[in-house]
Amino acid sequence: MTLAANVESSLNLALYIVPTPIGNLADMSQRAQEVLHQVDLIACEDTRHSGKLLSHFGISTKTMALHDHNERARAQYIAELLGQGKRIALISDAGTPLISDPGYHLVTQVREAGFDVVPLPGPCAAITALSASGLPSDRFSFEGFLPSKEKSRIDKLTGLMEDPRTLIFYESPHRIEYSLEAIVQVLGADRQIVMAREVTKTFETFLCGSAAEVLAKVQSDPNQQKGEIVLMCHGFIQDDEEAIAAPVLATLRLLCTELPLKKAAALAAQIHNVKKNALYKYGLEAGL
Ligand code: SAM
Repeated sequence: MTLAANVESSLNLALYIVPTPIGNLADMSQRAQEVLHQVDLIACEDTRHSGKLLSHFGISTKTMALHDHNERARAQYIAELLGQGKRIALISDAGTPLISDPGYHLVTQVREAGFDVVPLPGPCAAITALSASGLPSDRFSFEGFLPSKEKSRIDKLTGLMEDPRTLIFYESPHRIEYSLEAIVQVLGADRQIVMAREVTKTFETFLCGSAAEVLAKVQSDPNQQKGEIVLMCHGFIQDDEEAIAAPVLATLRLLCTELPLKKAAALAAQIHNVKKNALYKYGLEAGL
């Protein structure tokens, strides 16, 4: 069926939230194209940037800029247009609007004005990267970009240190090294991480390993500091008694009969290749 033949003539009166590709134009859905063809106006972050995408798909609908600096005023205007029976779409430069992109105030105001907001499913770098990361996906926390200032970055990570969910960050190539250093410092060199770069594009790369390993790869290969990046960290794993194998506990208990806990935990950790902090903590709680 051709696009024109498939276009519905009566799109309901609403604000449509339309995701666009994050790199591969083939990811633009048929429905996204149809909605963008049919609406009366497309609000986009950057009209020149989106103009190229729209012209690639032969879409000539009028566009209007909506970005962080004018969103509230534009939202008011868009609510008025909806009141006049105009159907509107929101797109961002790439991916799903509102996900580290403008649109939150617009959606809130449009809903408050009593109009429908219709979301279309589609590309989103965080979800796409997570789906192939190999990290737990049953619970995750999307954290957007880490702060650019070092202290705020460390504070932010400190607040997430014991979060058991997979953590997802967006990152820019010129800050990736600093962020990985902060992750090593706060979450620990052993924390499992996955760095997804240029997802859906020619140089798509997934770097997996401990935070220290991924940092070393990024530092030794300048190509890893290029393009668009999603950084994902395994959630905090609680070291508890159940998680410490019985032979390890037996060694710890035996060593504690002759040595102070700190020394015993360090030796038992070395013998069994496990973390000494967990053994020390267990020993303290168990009164060894
Ligand atoms: N709204 C978009 C979405 O749904 O993913 C995200 C917009 S945010 C301003 C841009 C950031 O998303 C980039 O700096 C990068 O961290 C991430 N990103 C976007 N496209 C990507 C891609 N193809 N590969 C990896 N990360 C990407």
